[in-house]
Amino acid sequence: MKVIIVCDSCGNIVNLSSSPVNEKAYFQRVAQNIFSINENDIEIDVDMDITPSLENSFVEKLSEADDEKEIYKILDNEIMDNVSVDVETKLKSLKIECENCGESMTVEF
Ligand SMILES: [Zn+2]
Repeated sequence: MKVIIVCDSCGNIVNLSSSPVNEKAYFQRVAQNIFSINENDIEIDVDMDITPSLENSFVEKLSEADDEKEIYKILDNEIMDNVSVDVETKLKSLKIECENCGESMTVEF
């Protein structure tokens, strides 16, 4: 498979072809100094769902803690074992910019 990026303004062009070995294309290798994708221009939707699933032993430890300092220590060490975190990410958009003339295009997904 191949993706061709062409700048309408100055004619900069890049052929992004997939490797026959792993079907991956390497943007940086091919497009370096021709086109860029700025990490700050990539928009990602993050949907995080945190569900507590408390172990009895965890609750017991907390209830037996002597002071706030100990509670924090217990939470620091064990909180991640007592919640389930479900993170879903989705690429929303990315911006491709011509390194020669600055023309750009934002691809929305
Ligand atoms: Zn250009």
